[in-house]
Amino acid sequence: MPPRAGSRTWRRDSSDNRKRDDRWLQKLEAANQFLAQLPAHEIEPLRPHWEPVFYGVKDVISRPNGPLRYAVFPLDAVLSLISSMEDGKNVAVHLVGSEGLLGIRALLGATSSVYTTIVRIPGSCLRIRLEAIQPAFRRGGLLQQAALNYASRVIEELSQTAACNRVHLLEQRLARWLLMLQSRCRKDDFSITHESLAQMLGSPRSEVTISAGILRKAGLIDYGRGGMKIMDRKGLEAVSCKCSRTEKAASSGRYKAFSVGTPLQPQEISRVH
Ligand SMILES: [Zn+2]
Repeated sequence: MPPRAGSRTWRRDSSDNRKRDDRWLQKLEAANQFLAQLPAHEIEPLRPHWEPVFYGVKDVISRPNGPLRYAVFPLDAVLSLISSMEDGKNVAVHLVGSEGLLGIRALLGATSSVYTTIVRIPGSCLRIRLEAIQPAFRRGGLLQQAALNYASRVIEELSQTAACNRVHLLEQRLARWLLMLQSRCRKDDFSITHESLAQMLGSPRSEVTISAGILRKAGLIDYGRGGMKIMDRKGLEAVSCKCSRTEKAASSGRYKAFSVGTPLQPQEISRVH
């Protein structure tokens, strides 16, 4: 797998391996739906700057007021943006997976982070230094258009989540976040603990465990040893609050080219150490 972020970063050499690495990078680009929609003449200039990285669970990618250095495109990792309250409580406000990117504010000109970003589902990402991608964004084209569309969608989701956290039942919200996790990592089963779910939902772990138990008893999910399996997505959608409509539209409409089920094979991501 790619090296962990913060350790040695992978660099292409300038030898005969370049073509082979280009083909490999193209496969990685295709695993991120934002990048997959870009035309060749826009993505090829970015290719020499990609750094494939692997993030482990609970790795912290950004902190409030911290500098923004990278745009990060998850391939099968899911990143969680956490808002911290003055009383010490934390709640997840957004998830970023293979449908998008972390760093949209930076592309739009922000220089420091607002949220804590932690890795919720471990996995691989392509990242790129901002100075390498910002010129392409400023030139316009589909990259700029896609980034602005994505920013619009993030704003919609942030406002939807704020209302959802305030008025909907824990069981409904749990169903919604599980649906979001599934569609972002494009797997039916993934690693996540009740503790992590509780932190995302801003609710006591004991209450999350009770709600998860209700969903399991209904045959919608199964879990154990830090793993979660979605057994019945349609059933989970029925239980979820209607905030998940936004989620359904996102996963079936604008990002129609990809369905649940990762196109990235383990042997491909593990090729470079
Ligand atoms: Zn809701």
